[in-house]
Amino acid sequence: SKAAVKQAGTEVATPKRTKEIIAKYGFSFKKSLGQNFLIDQNILNNIVAAAELDETKGALEIGPGIGALTQRLAQAAGKVTAVEIDNRLIPILKDVLAEEAHTTVIHGDVLKLDLKQLFAEQFADVSGVSVVANLPYYVTTPILMKLLEEKLPLEHIVVMIQKEVAERMAAKPGGKEYGSLSVAVQYYCVPKVVCTVPHTVFIPQPNVDSAVIKLSLREKPAVDVPDEDHFFRVVQASFAQRRKTLANNLTAFVGKERREALTEMLLSNDIDPIRRGETLSLVEFARISRSMLEAGWGTQSVSS
Ligand code: SAM
Repeated sequence: SKAAVKQAGTEVATPKRTKEIIAKYGFSFKKSLGQNFLIDQNILNNIVAAAELDETKGALEIGPGIGALTQRLAQAAGKVTAVEIDNRLIPILKDVLAEEAHTTVIHGDVLKLDLKQLFAEQFADVSGVSVVANLPYYVTTPILMKLLEEKLPLEHIVVMIQKEVAERMAAKPGGKEYGSLSVAVQYYCVPKVVCTVPHTVFIPQPNVDSAVIKLSLREKPAVDVPDEDHFFRVVQASFAQRRKTLANNLTAFVGKERREALTEMLLSNDIDPIRRGETLSLVEFARISRSMLEAGWGTQSVSS
């Protein structure tokens, strides 16, 4: 059809079109901003499909680049807001997205923006919002932790990230990938690796492997904890030195004088003190945090 021909000619995510845009605007890539642009329609299809969008939904894109994914989101969602840090990309995005309705480009650093306010301003009229992005890899974890910790009303987060980071987020207890990032992500979300992605679908090609991960936000956190901050400090402390036992890592956290009481507390929670942090489930970390607080160890900071 005519529409299909038109679309094929204007899609940003092809090697030819991307190179044309870069040449037309004299754009040069900044490695320091994690600029690797997607040039593959199939990967875009996978990302957009995983986000479960429709005309009643909103999408927040972080780092639209020259608009390859933005264009597709505009076709799939009722409202798209894209935040781009690089001011050289703003005029390009205006041109590329000129024909897309209900699409807003904001020039800014997502780590510095007031996202609650952005949500109130951009997404008042939609029935749900998902974050959909090919993230800059140098700030993947800070961006995702900001989205989760600010408890934004999100449905899904579908993002392209470094493969190794995706594996850590989705890891189950017992393996070396499982750590405090796995616990933090799984506390808020159900993770699923959607697909792994070869280097060849980006310009320029990154030197790491990539994957698309889908994080579906839980209605309430995976475990019930009396004090989230304390729970996450216990988790951090349990992984502080990965080759040490739980008893040793947690003694460093609560203080030497509590070593025996700590051992007893772990045993009374059915947790063998010689286990390593990487074998503990979220439920077990939650039990430890609760028992420590009940014992009045909540205010203790890390001691040597
Ligand atoms: N979405 C485009 C694509 O898939 O082709 C570009 C993805 S590229 C991996 C990451 C984008 O994030 C770049 O355009 C970069 O300038 C932008 N970026 C980097 N740091 C950012 C930040 N702190 N806030 C907003 N955008 C950022």
